[in-house]
Amino acid sequence: PATTRDRLRVAIQKSGRLAEPARDLLASCGLTWRESRDKLFCYGESLPVDLLLVRDDDIPGLIADGVCDLGVVGRNVLVEHDLGRTANGQAAALKEWRQLGWGVCRLDIAINDDEQWTGPEQLAGRRIATSFPRTLEDWLTDKGVDAQVVTLSGSVEIAPRLGQADVVCDLVSTGGTLAANALKPVETLLHSEAVIAGPFAPLEDGREEIADLLLRRMDGALRLKE
Ligand code: ATP
Ligand code: ZN
Repeated sequence: PATTRDRLRVAIQKSGRLAEPARDLLASCGLTWRESRDKLFCYGESLPVDLLLVRDDDIPGLIADGVCDLGVVGRNVLVEHDLGRTANGQAAALKEWRQLGWGVCRLDIAINDDEQWTGPEQLAGRRIATSFPRTLEDWLTDKGVDAQVVTLSGSVEIAPRLGQADVVCDLVSTGGTLAANALKPVETLLHSEAVIAGPFAPLEDGREEIADLLLRRMDGALRLKE
């Protein structure tokens, strides 16, 4: 690259389920920071580690493009991103550097709760709403089922009531949201949790050493929590 970068840059969710636990985790590593006025960037004061606050969906791309070095993100988002790369004939760029044990959820198929479930072949010809179309298509291919994938960026669980879809493929933790929408989970595509995502290749310009230090502290902090 034309420019070198000697500070580590970590992407975290700006707001949402992973935002606060991610900040808490980094704070527990001894990191303190100063926020930019627009609150999109945090300058690390105690370590040369800066934070970029973004939508979780943008985190894998930021790391793959080398804009950020590490990210705190759900495995579900990482898997969806990787399937997009392999579909384009690109090699997977990211791996899980650590599993964090929180943000635990599943990507499930859910059907109307008054419907019987006999198996994946029941989905043939039906419309399935999801925010994770590649993961769903990959699973459908694996099961040999031909269904119509309806991609929605949010509010997937109300799609059947709105007539947009017959079935959903959505993230589930307690199942409360599904139940409130008269849906029940019947198949699990993916078990997810928050992870530290990073590149396969080593970091450059001394950032590998900073990352090592941060992860050593993180391992200590995670162990203390057990
Ligand atoms: P953003 O605005 O950053 O795109 P979002 O709406 O996509 O936010 P959140 O709902 O905050 O994201 O969820 C972030 C991550 O939290 C999910 O990708 C998933 O890994 C995890 N998660 C854990 N439990 C759940 C759940 N019950 N529903 C949705 N996500 C969950
Ligand atoms: Zn998102």
